[in-house]
Amino acid sequence: MPSIYIETFGCQMNEADSQYIADRAAASGYAVTGDASQASVVVLNTCTVRDNAERRAYGRMAHFKKLKITDPSVKLVVCGCLAEQDKDTMQAGAPYLDGVFGTRDLARLGDALAAWRPDFEDDLTLADERALIEPLGGHADCTGGAYAHLRAFVNVQRGCSYYCTYCIVPHVRGRFDNRSTGDILRECRAAIAAGAREITLVGQTVNAFADPATGADFSDLLETVAALDGLDRFTFLTSHPKDYTAKLARTMGTLPKLNARFHLPVQSGSDPILRRMNRKYTVAQYREKIALFREMCPDWALTTDLIVAFPGETETDLEQTLALCDEMSFAQAFMFVYSPRRGTPAAHWEQIPAEIGSERLKRLAATIDRGVRAYHERKRGTTVRALIVGPSRKDPSKLAAKTPDNVTVIAPAGPLGEGELAASPWLDIAIDEAFTWGVSGRIVGIAERSDGLTVPVDARPTIDLITAR
Ligand code: SAM
Ligand code: SF4
Repeated sequence: MPSIYIETFGCQMNEADSQYIADRAAASGYAVTGDASQASVVVLNTCTVRDNAERRAYGRMAHFKKLKITDPSVKLVVCGCLAEQDKDTMQAGAPYLDGVFGTRDLARLGDALAAWRPDFEDDLTLADERALIEPLGGHADCTGGAYAHLRAFVNVQRGCSYYCTYCIVPHVRGRFDNRSTGDILRECRAAIAAGAREITLVGQTVNAFADPATGADFSDLLETVAALDGLDRFTFLTSHPKDYTAKLARTMGTLPKLNARFHLPVQSGSDPILRRMNRKYTVAQYREKIALFREMCPDWALTTDLIVAFPGETETDLEQTLALCDEMSFAQAFMFVYSPRRGTPAAHWEQIPAEIGSERLKRLAATIDRGVRAYHERKRGTTVRALIVGPSRKDPSKLAAKTPDNVTVIAPAGPLGEGELAASPWLDIAIDEAFTWGVSGRIVGIAERSDGLTVPVDARPTIDLITAR
């Protein structure tokens, strides 16, 4: 059986696209593997949102070229935002690639996979070898693995029309394009039928969703998805502060299956910077939205994205950002030094030196870490229910899981077997220690559904051991 390895960089949209590629590949008879060296097709799904994402993608391309040299029958494919941006130069500069597919070419990539299928069927030795593929392990951002089906990403919209002055996304993914509620529900049902325990509705500004035919808004969509038969838990990424309404805050507070985590990127705590970023809200408006959120969803985690050293950012602007972070006590934050992107307005403005950028990032991280650590400390002494991700990357004798408020939990695997965990993937973990990266503890039980009954770990018979890989 031919196999496909998919490595994903970047945001939730790329995760959703990788899942689409994996589904199309599976429909054409490929097995999804977490080991590139065993694959018949290697797909690199790229990101171009910052310079380091771009450099990493080119680095991985050079790395995968070696696989092609060892075995010329291997097909090597690049897709995603960097492929969209650099299509022409990429194909010319890397003739060893079997395909470069931009963000709007995914269906064509699916067709190519089907067309390549006979190339691999002919190669019996290769097929024999690849029947032995080990499903677990490999790169953390890889599609595949024993627990991959537990999490599904469903696109509710493509592209973005907001044109923040730093951002490449509208340039490589095009303007907003909302899917119909019917299509979204169909995909959610298919994911549930395939074993998904958590669905993430994704879009660059999901909360601006409007059904193209009926005009139903994002709150309506959440209510419809929440009512799906067999749905365990769900969540959504990413929201824009401008489109966060009182109706949405109320709806979020009334849906028990929704994960108790709200990601609302603020980017900066300074009005002049927000204006130059074209973010379409002020700090005061962000505060008002958060007050609404805290009122309706009092125990939820609030998470955010922040950029430092945006052109023109002064020491005062940065201090305002730090003060806002202290005030908001974010449970998690993705922090970036501004990275100029070709073709975006801010790339033409006077830039802040890189060393000032890294120094500001360090100060921001120190502020954020205080709030994050305090948030994690509150879990110590409690028992959390978390969905398994897989073996911990640092120590494979331990399992990694994520709570519905997106906190990483690590615990020794003990006697729990892979098959058993895939069927009962919710782990009840007694939390002993808190860190900045997450929490750790002991698995005391497993459950099939997020609101299901706990089977105590001590009370169940031992099945196959998870071994270190
Ligand atoms: N649509 C989302 C929003 O409006 O918040 C974010 C999408 S973007 C893929 C993810 C994050 O990357 C952004 O929130 C921003 O913090 C960061 N980002 C985007 N462009 C950047 C750039 N040029 N330099 C540094 N960070 C950037
Ligand atoms: Fe980029 Fe802004 Fe659109 Fe988010 S809202 S994808 S940051 S342009």
